[in-house]
Amino acid sequence: MTGIGAMTIQGQIEGGCLCGAIRYRLGGEISESAYCHCRTCQQQSGAPVVAWFALSPALFAYTKSTPKAFRASARASREFCGNCGTYLLFREDDPLASLGVNTATLDDPALVPPAFHIWCQSRIAWFDTADAFPRHAQGRT
Ligand SMILES: [Zn+2]
Ligand SMILES: [Zn+2]
Repeated sequence: MTGIGAMTIQGQIEGGCLCGAIRYRLGGEISESAYCHCRTCQQQSGAPVVAWFALSPALFAYTKSTPKAFRASARASREFCGNCGTYLLFREDDPLASLGVNTATLDDPALVPPAFHIWCQSRIAWFDTADAFPRHAQGRT
């Protein structure tokens, strides 16, 4: 697949929260990579947009401590550091559903560039990014 940020991570890469209490490791096939402008991401992160990428839960593991989880919808939880508050991960209740990892929590966020935008209907009017990527009013499909 092209145009949605799909890529392969060779080997393992790591990330974690601001205070260092939580660390994680991942690798393999990333199925999509995007910006989310939804209100829930804005409020949870305290930022105008969240960059995230999707991969199978089998390809992701916490390696240091465990996060807290907040349920913002009927079908998913949002995992964050209980000490410093960094929003790390979106996890659906379906154990086979892809995880959404927040790209800026990678040690090297430049490795996984976003390729499209979702939930632009709630984009903050004073904020946009300088790219020509597809912009979806709601989700991609
Ligand atoms: Zn932390
Ligand atoms: Zn969102």
